[in-house]
Amino acid sequence: MRLTTLGTGTASPSARVNAGHLVEAGAVVLLMDCGSGVVHRMGERGVNWLGITHLAITHFHPDHTLDLTTLLFASKYGTLPPRSAPLTILGPVGLQQLIDRFAVIYGNTLEDPGFPLTVRELAPGERADLGDGVTIEAHKVPHTAESVAYSVERGLARLVYTGDTGFDTAVAEWARGSSVLLCECSLPEELAVANHLTPAQVGVMAELAEPGRLVLTHFYPPVLDEDIGEIIALRYLGQVIVAADGWSTEIEER
Ligand SMILES: [Zn+2]
Ligand SMILES: [Zn+2]
Repeated sequence: MRLTTLGTGTASPSARVNAGHLVEAGAVVLLMDCGSGVVHRMGERGVNWLGITHLAITHFHPDHTLDLTTLLFASKYGTLPPRSAPLTILGPVGLQQLIDRFAVIYGNTLEDPGFPLTVRELAPGERADLGDGVTIEAHKVPHTAESVAYSVERGLARLVYTGDTGFDTAVAEWARGSSVLLCECSLPEELAVANHLTPAQVGVMAELAEPGRLVLTHFYPPVLDEDIGEIIALRYLGQVIVAADGWSTEIEER
């Protein structure tokens, strides 16, 4: 399994684009979240974005969803020949309504993307088989009403992506033993809010979850002025990676 962090930024404009992470596992090419800039980041990095088989949305904030339309528009008009391969979009309950609303604005790009498009809503606790031994499971997180985290598994590889979340020990317990915990780390202590994490909170959750590696993403610029690694090391002794756009790693499947 290979993870590439395409977009490690937030609503706050910076060199980091909005949320988007690519998981390649066997025949499955899964994009998790699709915020602004992610599609062009894939073009810039030489990612075969037409090869994406699945897209999983964690929640409906614009910094996680706005490039969904960009992706479908690119698939129809941004490449020759246009995409013909099927695509499945997974997300929380309400995903179909979100796509229907995009379709009201953008018309036939979404109503008729030119290839078979399947929308599958996943309730918290629900698991979907993506094929070739890859499964995905959703878990409720405290951020917005619909927000979920995802666990993607193939063989012994288990990648947990928190999406956006507030501090929650139940999420940490659920993530226990993951190979990689891809965790949001939005804000420094002095800007802490209930529905995002600070480095100290990430440290406590990682101490509970004990992932093989901790990969951080979703940075509002002020948090990057902190010594994130040092704060987290007070609680979690494993490897901590402050990911950048385009950072990539292999996760052992056996
Ligand atoms: Zn959010
Ligand atoms: Zn966000």
